Amino acid sequence: MKQLESTSMVLLRHHLKALRLPTITAECEKLARQAAADNADHLTYLLQLTELELLERERKAAERRLKAAHFPTHKTLEGFDFAARPSVNKLLVCELARCEYIDRRENVLFVGNPGTGKTHLATALAMAACGRGYRVRFFRLTELATLLMEARDERSLLGLKSRLAKLDLLVLDELGYVPASKVGAELLFDVISSAYERTSLIVTTNLPFESWTEVLGSERLTGATLDRLTHRCQIIETKGESYRLHDAKARIRRPPDNEQADPGDQREALEGGQTSS
Ligand code: ADP
Ligand code: MG
Repeated sequence: MKQLESTSMVLLRHHLKALRLPTITAECEKLARQAAADNADHLTYLLQLTELELLERERKAAERRLKAAHFPTHKTLEGFDFAARPSVNKLLVCELARCEYIDRRENVLFVGNPGTGKTHLATALAMAACGRGYRVRFFRLTELATLLMEARDERSLLGLKSRLAKLDLLVLDELGYVPASKVGAELLFDVISSAYERTSLIVTTNLPFESWTEVLGSERLTGATLDRLTHRCQIIETKGESYRLHDAKARIRRPPDNEQADPGDQREALEGGQTSS
Protein backbone atom coordinates (compact mmCIF):
# COMPACT_ATOMS: atom_id res chain seq x y z
CA MET A 1 0.00 0.00 0.00
CA LYS A 2 2.77 2.40 1.04
CA GLN A 3 4.58 1.49 -2.18
CA LEU A 4 1.47 2.19 -4.27
CA GLU A 5 0.97 5.55 -2.57
CA SER A 6 4.45 6.68 -3.32
CA THR A 7 4.15 5.53 -6.96
CA SER A 8 0.96 7.51 -7.39
CA MET A 9 2.60 10.49 -5.66
CA VAL A 10 5.44 10.37 -8.19
CA LEU A 11 2.93 10.22 -11.04
CA LEU A 12 0.83 12.98 -9.52
CA ARG A 13 3.86 15.25 -9.18
CA HIS A 14 4.73 14.50 -12.79
CA HIS A 15 1.22 15.38 -14.01
CA LEU A 16 1.08 18.54 -11.91
CA LYS A 17 4.42 19.60 -13.30
CA ALA A 18 3.23 18.97 -16.87
CA LEU A 19 0.15 21.03 -16.10
CA ARG A 20 2.35 23.78 -14.58
CA LEU A 21 0.73 23.80 -11.15
CA PRO A 22 3.69 24.34 -8.79
CA THR A 23 1.69 25.57 -5.79
CA ILE A 24 -0.65 22.59 -5.92
CA THR A 25 2.42 20.34 -6.19
CA ALA A 26 3.93 21.94 -3.10
CA GLU A 27 0.75 22.03 -1.01
CA CYS A 28 -1.33 18.97 -2.02
CA GLU A 29 0.03 16.54 0.57
CA LYS A 30 -0.17 18.93 3.52
CA LEU A 31 -3.67 20.01 2.53
CA ALA A 32 -4.75 16.39 2.01
CA ARG A 33 -3.76 15.57 5.61
CA GLN A 34 -5.59 18.68 6.79
CA ALA A 35 -8.71 17.78 4.75
CA ALA A 36 -8.69 14.25 6.18
CA ALA A 37 -8.43 15.63 9.71
CA ASP A 38 -11.27 18.11 9.04
CA ASN A 39 -13.44 15.52 7.27
CA ALA A 40 -13.55 17.86 4.26
CA ASP A 41 -14.95 16.37 1.05
CA HIS A 42 -13.02 16.02 -2.20
CA LEU A 43 -14.49 19.07 -3.84
CA THR A 44 -13.62 21.30 -0.88
CA TYR A 45 -10.07 19.98 -1.01
CA LEU A 46 -9.86 20.67 -4.75
CA LEU A 47 -11.29 24.15 -4.24
CA GLN A 48 -8.69 24.97 -1.59
CA LEU A 49 -5.85 23.76 -3.80
CA THR A 50 -6.97 25.70 -6.88
CA GLU A 51 -7.48 28.83 -4.78
CA LEU A 52 -3.91 28.61 -3.49
CA GLU A 53 -2.56 28.17 -7.02
CA LEU A 54 -4.50 31.20 -8.29
CA LEU A 55 -3.43 33.40 -5.35
CA GLU A 56 0.21 32.53 -5.84
CA ARG A 57 -0.03 33.18 -9.60
CA GLU A 58 -1.57 36.58 -8.99
CA ARG A 59 1.12 37.41 -6.40
CA LYS A 60 3.90 36.51 -8.83
CA ALA A 61 2.27 38.41 -11.69
CA ALA A 62 1.94 41.51 -9.46
CA GLU A 63 5.61 41.18 -8.53
CA ARG A 64 6.53 40.97 -12.24
CA ARG A 65 4.40 43.99 -13.13
CA LEU A 66 6.01 46.01 -10.33
CA LYS A 67 9.49 45.05 -11.51
CA ALA A 68 8.66 45.78 -15.16
CA ALA A 69 7.41 49.26 -14.21
CA HIS A 70 10.92 50.31 -13.06
CA PHE A 71 9.85 52.62 -10.26
CA PRO A 72 12.85 54.52 -8.87
CA THR A 73 11.32 54.35 -5.37
CA HIS A 74 8.20 52.79 -3.97
CA LYS A 75 5.62 55.28 -2.67
CA THR A 76 2.08 54.93 -1.41
CA LEU A 77 -0.88 57.24 -0.91
CA GLU A 78 -0.93 56.17 2.76
CA GLY A 79 2.56 57.65 3.02
CA PHE A 80 1.44 60.99 1.58
CA ASP A 81 0.64 63.75 4.05
CA PHE A 82 -2.36 65.41 2.38
CA ALA A 83 -2.72 67.88 5.25
CA ALA A 84 0.68 69.31 4.34
CA ARG A 85 -0.41 69.86 0.71
CA PRO A 86 -3.91 71.40 0.84
CA SER A 87 -3.91 72.31 -2.88
CA VAL A 88 -4.11 68.57 -3.65
CA ASN A 89 -7.65 67.21 -3.55
CA LYS A 90 -7.36 64.01 -1.52
CA LEU A 91 -10.73 62.69 -2.68
CA LEU A 92 -9.77 63.12 -6.32
CA VAL A 93 -6.40 61.40 -5.82
CA CYS A 94 -8.04 58.48 -3.97
CA GLU A 95 -10.55 58.17 -6.79
CA LEU A 96 -7.71 58.12 -9.31
CA ALA A 97 -6.14 55.27 -7.35
CA ARG A 98 -9.16 53.19 -8.39
CA CYS A 99 -7.83 53.51 -11.96
CA GLU A 100 -11.06 54.17 -13.82
CA TYR A 101 -9.26 56.96 -15.71
CA ILE A 102 -7.03 54.26 -17.21
CA ASP A 103 -10.07 52.43 -18.58
CA ARG A 104 -11.20 55.75 -20.04
CA ARG A 105 -7.68 56.40 -21.44
CA GLU A 106 -7.50 59.72 -19.61
CA ASN A 107 -4.36 61.45 -18.36
CA VAL A 108 -3.16 62.96 -15.10
CA LEU A 109 -0.84 65.91 -14.94
CA PHE A 110 0.94 67.01 -11.75
CA VAL A 111 2.22 70.59 -11.86
CA GLY A 112 4.19 72.22 -9.06
CA ASN A 113 7.52 73.32 -7.66
CA PRO A 114 10.33 70.87 -6.89
CA GLY A 115 9.84 68.85 -3.73
CA THR A 116 6.09 69.27 -3.58
CA GLY A 117 5.25 65.57 -3.96
CA LYS A 118 4.61 65.24 -7.71
CA THR A 119 6.82 62.17 -8.17
CA HIS A 120 5.49 60.69 -4.92
CA LEU A 121 1.86 60.98 -6.07
CA ALA A 122 2.63 59.84 -9.63
CA THR A 123 4.48 56.78 -8.29
CA ALA A 124 1.76 55.96 -5.78
CA LEU A 125 -0.97 56.12 -8.45
CA ALA A 126 1.09 54.05 -10.87
CA MET A 127 1.83 51.45 -8.17
CA ALA A 128 -1.88 51.26 -7.42
CA ALA A 129 -2.44 50.58 -11.13
CA CYS A 130 0.18 47.79 -11.03
CA GLY A 131 -1.65 46.27 -8.09
CA ARG A 132 -4.87 46.26 -10.10
CA GLY A 133 -3.29 44.38 -12.98
CA TYR A 134 -2.48 47.23 -15.38
CA ARG A 135 0.78 47.25 -17.33
CA VAL A 136 2.76 50.28 -16.25
CA ARG A 137 6.13 51.82 -17.11
CA PHE A 138 7.78 54.72 -15.28
CA PHE A 139 10.32 56.94 -17.04
CA ARG A 140 12.05 60.12 -16.15
CA LEU A 141 11.46 62.15 -19.27
CA THR A 142 15.17 62.63 -20.02
CA GLU A 143 15.69 58.86 -19.66
CA LEU A 144 12.96 58.15 -22.20
CA ALA A 145 14.30 60.80 -24.60
CA THR A 146 17.76 59.18 -24.44
CA LEU A 147 16.30 55.72 -24.92
CA LEU A 148 14.29 56.86 -27.93
CA MET A 149 17.31 58.51 -29.54
CA GLU A 150 19.47 55.43 -28.94
CA ALA A 151 16.77 53.19 -30.39
CA ARG A 152 16.51 55.45 -33.43
CA ASP A 153 20.28 55.25 -33.99
CA GLU A 154 20.21 51.48 -33.59
CA ARG A 155 17.14 51.16 -35.81
CA SER A 156 15.17 49.56 -32.99
CA LEU A 157 12.68 52.40 -32.61
CA LEU A 158 9.74 50.38 -33.89
CA GLY A 159 10.40 47.66 -31.31
CA LEU A 160 10.57 50.19 -28.49
CA LYS A 161 7.41 51.90 -29.66
CA SER A 162 5.51 48.65 -29.91
CA ARG A 163 6.59 47.81 -26.33
CA LEU A 164 5.30 51.22 -25.20
CA ALA A 165 2.06 50.66 -27.10
CA LYS A 166 1.37 47.54 -25.02
CA LEU A 167 1.24 49.57 -21.80
CA ASP A 168 -1.93 50.68 -20.05
CA LEU A 169 -0.21 53.53 -18.21
CA LEU A 170 2.95 55.43 -19.00
CA VAL A 171 4.48 57.76 -16.38
CA LEU A 172 6.63 60.61 -17.70
CA ASP A 173 8.33 62.16 -14.71
CA GLU A 174 10.03 65.57 -14.66
CA LEU A 175 9.08 67.20 -17.88
CA GLY A 176 11.11 70.34 -18.06
CA TYR A 177 14.25 69.84 -16.01
CA VAL A 178 16.42 69.50 -19.09
CA PRO A 179 15.40 70.90 -22.45
CA ALA A 180 15.10 68.00 -24.88
CA SER A 181 17.08 68.21 -28.13
CA LYS A 182 15.08 68.85 -31.29
CA VAL A 183 15.17 65.17 -32.23
CA GLY A 184 14.42 64.13 -28.64
CA ALA A 185 11.46 66.50 -28.52
CA GLU A 186 10.06 65.15 -31.81
CA LEU A 187 10.42 61.56 -30.58
CA LEU A 188 8.77 62.37 -27.25
CA PHE A 189 5.95 64.12 -29.06
CA ASP A 190 5.53 61.00 -31.17
CA VAL A 191 5.19 58.86 -28.01
CA ILE A 192 2.62 61.26 -26.53
CA SER A 193 0.71 61.34 -29.82
CA SER A 194 0.67 57.56 -30.11
CA ALA A 195 -0.55 57.27 -26.53
CA TYR A 196 -3.42 59.64 -27.24
CA GLU A 197 -6.70 57.83 -26.43
CA ARG A 198 -4.86 54.48 -26.27
CA THR A 199 -2.55 54.60 -23.23
CA SER A 200 -3.04 56.77 -20.17
CA LEU A 201 -0.24 59.13 -19.25
CA ILE A 202 0.77 60.55 -15.90
CA VAL A 203 3.08 63.51 -16.43
CA THR A 204 4.82 65.54 -13.75
CA THR A 205 6.32 68.95 -14.38
CA ASN A 206 7.66 71.95 -12.52
CA LEU A 207 6.95 74.17 -15.50
CA PRO A 208 3.89 76.30 -16.12
CA PHE A 209 2.40 75.61 -19.57
CA GLU A 210 3.79 78.92 -20.93
CA SER A 211 7.33 77.59 -20.49
CA TRP A 212 6.86 74.26 -22.25
CA THR A 213 8.02 75.80 -25.53
CA GLU A 214 11.49 76.14 -24.01
CA VAL A 215 11.64 72.37 -23.43
CA LEU A 216 10.02 71.18 -26.61
CA GLY A 217 11.74 73.79 -28.76
CA SER A 218 8.88 74.83 -31.00
CA GLU A 219 5.51 76.40 -30.45
CA ARG A 220 3.90 74.06 -32.95
CA LEU A 221 5.16 71.00 -31.06
CA THR A 222 4.27 72.45 -27.66
CA GLY A 223 0.76 73.36 -28.80
CA ALA A 224 0.17 69.92 -30.29
CA THR A 225 1.63 68.13 -27.22
CA LEU A 226 -0.44 70.14 -24.76
CA ASP A 227 -3.50 69.63 -26.90
CA ARG A 228 -3.22 65.83 -26.78
CA LEU A 229 -2.05 65.67 -23.19
CA THR A 230 -4.64 67.93 -21.63
CA HIS A 231 -7.65 66.68 -23.59
CA ARG A 232 -9.46 64.48 -21.03
CA CYS A 233 -6.97 65.13 -18.27
CA GLN A 234 -6.99 65.74 -14.52
CA ILE A 235 -4.60 68.55 -13.68
CA ILE A 236 -3.42 68.52 -10.07
CA GLU A 237 -1.39 71.41 -8.75
CA THR A 238 0.99 70.78 -5.85
CA LYS A 239 1.24 74.36 -4.70
CA GLY A 240 3.55 75.56 -1.95
CA GLU A 241 7.05 74.99 -0.76
CA SER A 242 9.15 71.82 -0.82
CA TYR A 243 7.95 69.17 1.64
CA ARG A 244 11.45 68.35 2.86
CA LEU A 245 12.26 72.02 3.33
CA HIS A 246 9.03 72.46 5.26
CA ASP A 247 9.87 69.35 7.29
CA ALA A 248 13.39 70.57 8.03
CA LYS A 249 12.11 74.00 9.07
CA ALA A 250 9.53 72.41 11.37
CA ARG A 251 12.27 70.34 12.99
CA ILE A 252 14.32 73.47 13.61
CA ARG A 253 11.36 75.26 15.12
CA ARG A 254 10.66 72.26 17.38
CA PRO A 255 13.96 70.74 18.64
CA PRO A 256 13.48 67.33 20.30
CA ASP A 257 12.47 67.66 24.00
CA ASN A 258 15.37 65.99 25.79
CA GLU A 259 18.08 66.60 23.21
CA GLN A 260 19.94 69.82 22.55
CA ALA A 261 19.78 69.88 18.74
CA ASP A 262 23.09 70.60 17.02
CA PRO A 263 22.70 73.77 14.93
CA GLY A 264 25.13 72.36 12.34
CA ASP A 265 22.82 69.40 11.71
CA GLN A 266 19.88 71.70 11.35
CA ARG A 267 21.60 73.85 8.76
CA GLU A 268 22.52 70.75 6.80
CA ALA A 269 18.93 69.46 6.86
CA LEU A 270 17.70 72.80 5.60
CA GLU A 271 20.26 73.04 2.83
CA GLY A 272 19.66 69.39 1.84
CA GLY A 273 15.97 70.17 1.48
CA GLN A 274 16.64 73.25 -0.58
CA THR A 275 18.99 71.77 -3.12
CA SER A 276 17.20 68.55 -3.94
CA SER A 277 13.96 68.19 -5.79
P1 ADP B 1 8.69 66.48 -6.65
O1 ADP B 1 8.56 65.32 -7.57
O2 ADP B 1 7.50 67.39 -6.66
O3 ADP B 1 9.96 67.24 -6.85
P2 ADP B 1 8.87 64.43 -4.63
O4 ADP B 1 7.60 63.67 -4.85
O5 ADP B 1 10.10 63.82 -5.15
O6 ADP B 1 8.72 65.93 -5.15
O7 ADP B 1 8.99 64.71 -3.07
C1 ADP B 1 10.25 64.90 -2.42
C2 ADP B 1 10.30 64.04 -1.17
O8 ADP B 1 9.35 64.51 -0.22
C3 ADP B 1 9.95 62.60 -1.45
O9 ADP B 1 10.72 61.79 -0.59
C4 ADP B 1 8.48 62.50 -1.07
O10 ADP B 1 8.13 61.20 -0.62
C5 ADP B 1 8.39 63.52 0.06
N1 ADP B 1 7.09 64.19 0.09
C6 ADP B 1 6.71 65.24 -0.66
N2 ADP B 1 5.48 65.65 -0.33
C7 ADP B 1 5.05 64.82 0.65
C8 ADP B 1 3.86 64.74 1.43
N3 ADP B 1 2.85 65.62 1.26
N4 ADP B 1 3.77 63.76 2.35
C9 ADP B 1 4.80 62.90 2.54
N5 ADP B 1 5.97 62.94 1.86
C10 ADP B 1 6.10 63.89 0.93
MG1 MG C 1 9.92 64.74 -9.01
